Amino acid sequence: MRKTIIAGNWKMYKTIAEAIELANGLKRELFDLNPQLIEIVICPAFTALSEVRDVISDSNLQLGAQDVFWEDEGAFTGEVSCLMLKDIGCRFVIIGHSERRQYFAETNEVVNKKARTVLRHGLIPIVCVGETLSEREKGLTFKVLEDHIYNGLKQISKEDILRVIIAYEPVWAIGTGRTATAEQAQEAQSYIRSLLAKMYDKQTAQQVRIQYGGSVKPENISELVSQPDVDGALVGLASLNLESFVKIVKRASQVRK
Ligand code: PEP
Repeated sequence: MRKTIIAGNWKMYKTIAEAIELANGLKRELFDLNPQLIEIVICPAFTALSEVRDVISDSNLQLGAQDVFWEDEGAFTGEVSCLMLKDIGCRFVIIGHSERRQYFAETNEVVNKKARTVLRHGLIPIVCVGETLSEREKGLTFKVLEDHIYNGLKQISKEDILRVIIAYEPVWAIGTGRTATAEQAQEAQSYIRSLLAKMYDKQTAQQVRIQYGGSVKPENISELVSQPDVDGALVGLASLNLESFVKIVKRASQVRK
């Protein structure tokens, strides 16, 4: 059985004080959820990681970063390495978010280098894949997913792929308020699983967790995670609000499949 995992991507929001306040609220409201049944990850901006770590250190919340560089150290101004993220207490790292692909020209090759580095350091990559609106309208969704999965996850061993979380995030649904229907999410995510079965084997593919991301809200989380191949969600804007993220996590934890 794949354990549900809900992650909050706080993007470039929240001062340190605001991040501490939100983390404290989540800790208070979600303390009774069993981590054996649901994993909860929050990914603040780099500047707030240390303070948020202190707040959640004795809770069922886990810490993630929104990006990382593939080298361990060196003259790479502005970048942060896996060594640094481990040092600060991160366990998860979002890789290849569509905003990074769009604004920072991240390619599948870059995503692959980052994902492999994250795995080498014993961290867990949340690898984002998904098509744009024009790609969907041209009927290219499956082609794009093949490209993102085959190239983004290239040379990742069968043992390591079991630690990877894949986030299917159709770009047209991110931050737009336009959610993929549960059927669209299921169709794409079952296709992703079939690609993993080709790359590895069916049994391995069945064990990899695939989240959905794109305008997830309290109103749509239950239907989304009820789908057989939707193992949780990567939540952006709705994770910035205490009430809505708490509802999302609680509702997801109530879905039994
Ligand atoms: C995201 O940032 O990964 C995301 C899915 O954003 P939103 O929930 O705001 O669409």
